[in-house]
Amino acid sequence: MAVKLSDIPFVESLALKGKNVFIRVDFNVPIVDGQITDDSRIQGALETIRYVRDQGAKVILGSHFGRPKTEEDRKKLSLEPVAQRLQELLDCEVVLVEEPLSEAPKALLKTLREHQVLMLENLRFFAGETKNEKGLVEAISAYTDVYINDAFGASHRAHSSIVGLPATVSQKAMGFLMKKELEALNGILSGAESPYVAVLGGAKVSDKITIIKDLMNKVDGFIIGGAMAYTFLKAQGNNVGTSLVEKEQIQFAKKMIEGMEAREKKLLLPVDHVVAPRFDAVADEVKTTDSVVVPEGFMGLDIGPQTIKTYAEYLGQAKTIFWNGPMGVFENELFNKGTFAVAEAIAKSEAVSIVGGGDSASAARESGFSKDFTHISTGGGASLEYLQGVPMPGLLALQGKFKDHIVK
Ligand code: AMP
Repeated sequence: MAVKLSDIPFVESLALKGKNVFIRVDFNVPIVDGQITDDSRIQGALETIRYVRDQGAKVILGSHFGRPKTEEDRKKLSLEPVAQRLQELLDCEVVLVEEPLSEAPKALLKTLREHQVLMLENLRFFAGETKNEKGLVEAISAYTDVYINDAFGASHRAHSSIVGLPATVSQKAMGFLMKKELEALNGILSGAESPYVAVLGGAKVSDKITIIKDLMNKVDGFIIGGAMAYTFLKAQGNNVGTSLVEKEQIQFAKKMIEGMEAREKKLLLPVDHVVAPRFDAVADEVKTTDSVVVPEGFMGLDIGPQTIKTYAEYLGQAKTIFWNGPMGVFENELFNKGTFAVAEAIAKSEAVSIVGGGDSASAARESGFSKDFTHISTGGGASLEYLQGVPMPGLLALQGKFKDHIVK
């Protein structure tokens, strides 16, 4: 069910002048060799940060970054590169606070100048964050007057900075990015125009079972690609070579195929493939099949040209499209054509198009058509859960309604 936006306080309704405002952002960005490869989550948070700063408040930013476990991870998963990028984008100094639980932030806030913002070091460096323990909450709330949640991509987690802090800080609201995310997803939850097509791809059927079951009753058709297509093709009795198949999901795939037939809805599967003997194959080992059959000793790593054509035609008729998961191993340029072609077809369609975060959001951007999507969510797991109507701890907390027992 769509959450009513009017039930959640919005940052514009709060008086912020002179306050210390903690903004929970989602700066969990991809970094390769110390370089941020996609800064859209940082870009997405700028509006709220600028607004809060322009209201004459002091900004304290908090985010998680990766899943630090060891001492070594602390070096790799510092928010330092993010602070640098934000500094360029905001055109102001970003002061990274290494010890958010110490007295340092309080002292820094006292002397913080207009063109400075504070950023707390990776919140997951502190054991209490993922367990919603009160130590972290008490430390941060001691220097926070107002709590803003702009981290849609992290709001399905009942962590300290998502539920504990807003329970302790009396003034709280959502930011601009959170509002934008909810508006976009509410649009397809409460009024998806038909034909509504869900494009699902990626690695595993098992990761997407609940969303598939949920969408079966809402969409007019599915387009299936990526590794998960091979479990469906196997379920139909096709030869899939050494493609990734989840044996334990074959029964589910069969039921889904039957279920869609019974509902007289479409379920499109690949009819040809780009195949190779291995994931890390070189160009001259790659070939394109001329049928649904994957030859022995080969694995399907992208959808083929005939499949692209069929999928693009169907997408061209759609009025609403939800996309989650790449059509192939798109990180490798030998296997990225299917994913980029689907991105192009979605972008060129007349449909309201929502990309549900993660790899498909990166692919949508890399395809060069990102401006033509209605909305590219910054949250992968979060957007899937929201669309299924799973209550989001972060949104409940903003309404003072979060109860531990609903944590999954
Ligand atoms: P997910 O996180 O479930 O959306 O899965 C994304 C991952 O699925 C990407 O890393 C892709 O490389 C991978 N993937 C997509 N298609 C295939 C395929 N045919 N075989 C193996 N992996 C794939």
